[in-house]
Amino acid sequence: MADCVFVVAEFRGGDFRRVSYEVASEGRKIADALGVSLYGIAVGSGVTDKASQLGFYGVDKVFVADDPALESYVAETYVPVIASIIEQADPAAVLLAASVDGKDLSARLAARLEAGLAQDCTEVVCEDGALKAKRPIFAGKCLAWCEWAEDALPMISCRPNVMDCRDADATREAEVEAVAVEIPEARSRATGLELDTSGKVELTEAEIIVSGGRGMKASENFSILEELATELGAAVGASRAAVDAGWRPHSDQVGQTGKVVNPNLYIAVGISGAIQHLAGMGSSKYIVAVNKDPEAPIFTKADYGVVEDLFKFVPAFTEEVRKMKSTC
Ligand SMILES: Cc1cc2nc3c(=O)[nH]c(=O)nc-3n(C[C@H](O)[C@H](O)[C@H](O)COP(=O)(O)OP(=O)(O)OC[C@H]3O[C@@H](n4cnc5c(N)ncnc54)[C@H](O)[C@@H]3O)c2cc1C
Repeated sequence: MADCVFVVAEFRGGDFRRVSYEVASEGRKIADALGVSLYGIAVGSGVTDKASQLGFYGVDKVFVADDPALESYVAETYVPVIASIIEQADPAAVLLAASVDGKDLSARLAARLEAGLAQDCTEVVCEDGALKAKRPIFAGKCLAWCEWAEDALPMISCRPNVMDCRDADATREAEVEAVAVEIPEARSRATGLELDTSGKVELTEAEIIVSGGRGMKASENFSILEELATELGAAVGASRAAVDAGWRPHSDQVGQTGKVVNPNLYIAVGISGAIQHLAGMGSSKYIVAVNKDPEAPIFTKADYGVVEDLFKFVPAFTEEVRKMKSTC
């Protein structure tokens, strides 16, 4: 008889990533539906002091593996450590983030634990004690519901920025238990993490994204999007055409071969709306498209469409945002 649901938290730069709180909130929902406890797993270096805070988002108890050797995510160390914690209980499900590290970790963990993995899910429901998870497939063209055989362990990675995050309840600290686990000698190690210190909002965590495509025509023209983004507190993204042209770094690319983003507001400027681009931003809550071609496919996906030359519209819109902000 399963006794818990596990959520695996992601710890980086001295704190948990926001997606860990989303995963914890989703885990709480499932644990309540199944009538079991919610356990967290926190792995890293210096993670102990923060571990109890997972309780603010619904975790009852956190198992902590805190060691300098676990400073950065390396599959060879993280997978056996996390697997050994999970193996000591009888979980009904394991939830992780479908982040870059989380996707790698969940695939390896699922193989090791012989769990059934549903990757990059956007919804999880519990019906009559059985879990079902929804995930976009074929570049977002279809949505698949995954179910598990009765004797299978469901492992679910949750797409960042999609699932509701509970309000933090600072009165609800989780119990913390340090686990003594053997950390295997790794053949590879991370020699350092280069954090983006530009102060830019990270695309996958941004509430608002302003993205530019081939319609921007040149690298220097992205300055008008940067200005708009600054006013809106947004991140700047790009289509692959803009990245391939060398106007933006690959880290800005949104889409099938770039990043999958889920902001509240996605403003697509001079982007036609190819299926591979939609795969990366189609689940944004509100989509605004700016394109001079009224037949551009992006308008079929957009909640609001502006048929206009972007070089006229964007500076005028930025000015209006500035005015509105100054009167607020
Ligand atoms: C395997 C594979 C993977 C891919 N992965 C990705 C991916 O991850 N992300 C991605 O984005 N693409 C990806 N692509 C490429 C994708 O198919 C498209 O080629 C690309 O998205 C087109 O980018 P775009 O919309 O910027 O350019 P275009 O399709 O050329 O569109 C430019 C748009 O700008 C508009 N425009 C031009 N001038 C103006 C103006 N002055 N004012 C207003 N509008 C204007 C035009 O009307 C047009 O609609 C992939 C393709 C393949 C085959």
